[in-house]
Amino acid sequence: MSDPVNRLAGAIESSPSPFHASATAAEALRTAGFIELDPAARWSHEAATGPAFVRRDGSLVAWTENRGRPTDGVRLIGAHTDSPGLRVRPNPDHGRLGWRQISVEVYGGALWNSWLDRDLRLAGRIAVERADGVESILVDSVHAVARIPQLAIHLDREVNSGGLRLDPQTHLTPVWGLGTPRSGDVARLLADLAEVPVGSVRSWDVGFVDAQAPARIGPDAELLASGRLDDLLCVWAGVEAIAAATAVNDAPVALLVLVDHEEVGSETATGAGGNLVLNVLERRHDALGATRADLLTALAGSVCLSADVAHAVHPNYPERHDPDHQILAGSGPAVKFNANARYATTAVGAAEFQRCAARVGVSVQHYSHRSDIPCGSTIGPLTAAGLGVETVDVGAPILSMHSARELVATADIDSLLSSFTAWMTTPLGRQA
Ligand code: ZN
Repeated sequence: MSDPVNRLAGAIESSPSPFHASATAAEALRTAGFIELDPAARWSHEAATGPAFVRRDGSLVAWTENRGRPTDGVRLIGAHTDSPGLRVRPNPDHGRLGWRQISVEVYGGALWNSWLDRDLRLAGRIAVERADGVESILVDSVHAVARIPQLAIHLDREVNSGGLRLDPQTHLTPVWGLGTPRSGDVARLLADLAEVPVGSVRSWDVGFVDAQAPARIGPDAELLASGRLDDLLCVWAGVEAIAAATAVNDAPVALLVLVDHEEVGSETATGAGGNLVLNVLERRHDALGATRADLLTALAGSVCLSADVAHAVHPNYPERHDPDHQILAGSGPAVKFNANARYATTAVGAAEFQRCAARVGVSVQHYSHRSDIPCGSTIGPLTAAGLGVETVDVGAPILSMHSARELVATADIDSLLSSFTAWMTTPLGRQA
C-alpha cells in the first residue's frame, strides 16, 4: 500500500462516519509515534511535549514535538471529517404497503438525486448504557443494508425533460426489507453490529453512506471515484503530512485540526465554531509551563492552511465558472479566494502556500467563484476568526462535490500530499 491513491482509498473505506474518520486518523498517528491524550485528564509536561493528539467524537487535534520557544509560530492544517448524507432518526422504524423502511433526515447540503438507487451502508456510533455509565461504540454494517429506489420512468414521464423533483421528507426514505415494520428493528441491527444486548442501546449518531468502494477509472486510471472525498481527501493528506513532519529536524511545530459538523455550520462542541481547538492549545501551553500570552504570541506568528476540496471546471457546464478562474483537474491544488470572506485566504497566506508548494515543484491554481452564484464556505473563516491566524484556503479540484460519489484526478492526490507535507515542514518565514 505504498501508492498514495491506495492509501487514500483505504482511509476513506475505514471512515464511513466522522467518528470513524477521527478513529482512522488516530490509528495512523499512533503508528507514526503520536501519543493519545485523555481530554478529560490533566496532561503532564512530558505528554504535552508531543508528538501527541487528543480526540473527541468526530474531531481530533494533533501536534508534533515541542521545539524552540513557546512564543514561536506554528503551522496548522485544518480539515473536516463530516460529509453530506442521510442520518437515521431516533424513532427510525417506518414502512407501509409491504415495505420496511428507515426514517432519515438529510445531513448538510447533499445532492439528493445522487442517493437514489445506491446500495447503502450504515455506520456511526451508538451510546450504550453500562452499569457504571454510558459507553460510545463505533458501528459499521460494512455491507449494504438499504436503498432508496427511484420512481420508474413509466410513472414519471416528465423526469428527463422537466427535471427530477424530490421532497426530502417523503422521497428519500430508504427501504430495507419486506413485511410490517417492528419497533426496535434498527436498534437490533445496531446492537448486533456492536455485539451488545439490544436493551442496552440508548441512542445513536448513525447515517448512510454509499457502500461502493473507491475505484480508479479511465484507460490510464487517472481518476478516482469515491464517496466523501469532501473532505476525507484533505483529512488523509493532513494526517500524512503531520506524520512526515515528525521526521524533519528543522520543521516548525505542526498542528493538525480535524473537526466535525462543517457541513451543518460548525457551531457545535466539536465543530470549528466551538472552543475545542483553542482549549486544546491553551491546555498544551499550560502543561508546557507557558502562559496564555505566550500562546497568543505564537498564534500571531502562525499560519493556517484550511484544507477543503475545490470546484474543478466541469466540461459540461463551463459557464458555471468564472471564465478567468477555471481550475483544471490534474493541474495542482487550488488556492480559494473570496472577497466576502467565504474563504479566509489573504494575500500573505496565499503567497506563503505558493512558497511552500514551489519547494516541491507543485504549481498552484487560483479559484474565485462566479459573482452571480452563491459561494460555499469552509472552516477557514471560522478558524481564522477564532485563532486570529493568517489563513489560506486550499484544496484539490474535484467534480460532483456533495454527491454520494465524487471524482478527483489521481495527479491531484499526489500534488496535494506533497504540497501539504511541504507546508508542514518548511521553516516559518517572516509574515509581514
Ligand atoms: Zn468540504
